[in-house]
Amino acid sequence: MYNIFIKFYLSKPMWFTVRMVDISRGAALGTFGASELFQLLRDGQPRTRAELAAMTGLARSTVAARVESLMSLELISPVGDAASTGGRPSSQFAFNPSARVVLAADLGASHATLAATDLNGAVLGEVHTSIDIASGPEAVLGWMVSAARQLLDELGRPRHDLVAIGVGIPGPVQYSTGRPVNPPIMPGWDRFDVPGWVQQHLEVPVLVDNDVNIMALGERAFAWPNSEHLMFVKVATGIGAGVISGGLLQRGAQGIAGDIGHVQVARGAGVPCHCGNRGCLEALASGPAIARSLREAGLDVSSGRDVVELVKRGNIEAIQAVRQAGRDIGEVLTAAVSLINPSVIAIGGSMARAGEHLIAGVREVVYTRSMPLATEHLSIVQSSAAENAAVLGASMLAIHHALSPEGVDALSPRA
Ligand SMILES: [Zn+2]
Repeated sequence: MYNIFIKFYLSKPMWFTVRMVDISRGAALGTFGASELFQLLRDGQPRTRAELAAMTGLARSTVAARVESLMSLELISPVGDAASTGGRPSSQFAFNPSARVVLAADLGASHATLAATDLNGAVLGEVHTSIDIASGPEAVLGWMVSAARQLLDELGRPRHDLVAIGVGIPGPVQYSTGRPVNPPIMPGWDRFDVPGWVQQHLEVPVLVDNDVNIMALGERAFAWPNSEHLMFVKVATGIGAGVISGGLLQRGAQGIAGDIGHVQVARGAGVPCHCGNRGCLEALASGPAIARSLREAGLDVSSGRDVVELVKRGNIEAIQAVRQAGRDIGEVLTAAVSLINPSVIAIGGSMARAGEHLIAGVREVVYTRSMPLATEHLSIVQSSAAENAAVLGASMLAIHHALSPEGVDALSPRA
């Protein structure tokens, strides 16, 4: 195993870093099994048995057996022949993303989306419905389970093809158990065993996370696959952020890392917030807060959606209010930039539909108030994944679990 380390280090320093954990895991078990070999092929690049043997240091016969095993799971498939070097051509193998499916659910306060995707996150089918998250977990998850069955039937995929389900919910989650923790707008959901309930109907791993966290995963997968340091900021009825640092989603000790909505901003002195404090970012810069400030100025506005409409029609007061909200958000993000030094801040959520005005306010403050080195390569942009960020991120959560060495070990060949 030591020789493998050296070989990786000399020829492919990046691989050395990425593979070290898995190789040491294999070494501890005394094997470099099919599931570990599969991790090398997950990037989709076709490789021959000889290339895999060179990359792993395994004997050709061992690689052949591992390849057979992955072929029987259909996780890899032959993809034509490598250019011959004079002898007989050798077959190449690559990841087969259509081998299985995952389900991705985005459960919001009033709307839900359920999608089936392949193992690359490509959406195969999708259903939307109106829900009331406050009607409780059994009603909402009951819809999700029946929609899941219907979707798989419509796609002609047997239940056995489903390998994991990712679920995003609008509240804090203890990720290790999949249980919501004191979610403010979700009565009846506190500490509810979401995976346990779903698994009574669909017996696959169920991963549950906060909606903003999965949006960060979705945004990165869609638009910034090489970014290791990304913040996704959702500006809607509330304000929250998902933080990816060092390539990993940061959930914090209690699952509320990135909960920036209740940080105090200078302009907010005295403004009451629903959390019980005063001067919170959310009490000034959320959709309802901007609508309230415009109402106080005499405009006929009742919601964040109305604000966005006014901005699109060029209403100067609405544009100024949205830009000021951007500055307030920028004030809090300036501190976040100092803490985690992201290379991307993507702004999403319903208020991001107000376009560049919100982003311009954020940029104005972050770029002038941060240290120059922190903003030298910092992009502050509108979310590219937009409405699809959450579903895509839930899919990534499920795929990441299903294709991990442990997930692959748990798979059995299709009937
Ligand atoms: Zn608050």
